[in-house]
Amino acid sequence: MIYLDYNATAPVRPEVVAAMQECLALPLNASSVHTFGREAKKRLEYARKTIAETMSAWPNELIFCGSGTEANNWALRAVTGRRVLVSAMEHSSVLAAAPEHKILIPSTAEGLVDLAALEALLQTDGVALVSVMLANNETGVIQPMAEVAALCRKYEALLHCDAVQGVGKIPVDFGGLGADMMTISGHKSGGPVGAAALVVRRGYALPAFLLGGGQESRRRAGTENIAAISGFAKAMELIDLNDMKRLRSWLAVMEQAMEAMGGVVFGTSAPRLPNTTCVAMPGTSGEVQLMDFDLKGFAVSTGSACSSGRIEGSHVLAAMNVPKNLAESAIRISGGWKTTEEDIILFTQAWRNTRKRLIK
Ligand code: PLP
Repeated sequence: MIYLDYNATAPVRPEVVAAMQECLALPLNASSVHTFGREAKKRLEYARKTIAETMSAWPNELIFCGSGTEANNWALRAVTGRRVLVSAMEHSSVLAAAPEHKILIPSTAEGLVDLAALEALLQTDGVALVSVMLANNETGVIQPMAEVAALCRKYEALLHCDAVQGVGKIPVDFGGLGADMMTISGHKSGGPVGAAALVVRRGYALPAFLLGGGQESRRRAGTENIAAISGFAKAMELIDLNDMKRLRSWLAVMEQAMEAMGGVVFGTSAPRLPNTTCVAMPGTSGEVQLMDFDLKGFAVSTGSACSSGRIEGSHVLAAMNVPKNLAESAIRISGGWKTTEEDIILFTQAWRNTRKRLIK
């Protein structure tokens, strides 16, 4: 099987498995005061420092939690009852968690948040929080965060950025982002599922999410998962963005070949993640393509298959005004640390063959 669904989850790196196994062999509860407890605390704080350093954050700005979904829920629910602006292309964990006073910020046809619309919305009274993702999980489009942050500052709204898909693919710089909160998760770039963090700017008093213990500065109770957190830190240490440059050049060749065969690649006029291609094969549903590629030994997904295999229309492509039938013929190819040039060449050939066979 050739795995090209890194935006859903990436294969765990062997070094991460080793780091986790080492932890799992010990009884590690960072709240205990004995030798093992102190060892757990040491590993926890080492991981916090390591991850924080990779994204220009202070260690005490990172609050570990169980998933990107949890971090997004936390950030969005912190302002329940007040007006929140979320981009129409956000991950469902932001869209669903946004309180009832949510207003969607429209997208441009390229998949970028519409800055003029955002400013107009910010001019209305009482906007407490804006949530815009760093990069989109379906199209890979990277959002103009500097401009979004400047607008939030101008209108004194809090800013949350879901950076889950940016981590490991492009530089993620919390200090430079100008956000009050940022969501990160380890499993899209070689870490384990179940280790994530909400990065919270020093000085922003985010209310606690889970009560019942003093962990994570009393803001997220529950025994910390030292094995998963250590694996997360190891994965962050191993990130080499040069891998991504190579991957982008291979995907560029693949996209050119697909376009020459009638494929439609989305978001090409916007900055995009180096590992992601969202491409339609007009005339064949994404679902049929997915099954065909699976039989041929390739794991890819439809844009929205992030939501546990559920295949439904993409709200992201809909927000970009992509016609419904074209959107339904889109699939997402996403590579990562283990992807080779040969994988991409073989997939390009498979795409060509599928197209020939399914479209008469
Ligand atoms: N945000 C984005 C943009 C994602 O793509 C995902 C997962 O696909 C999440 C949040 C949720 O992260 P997790 O799987 O850690 O809950």
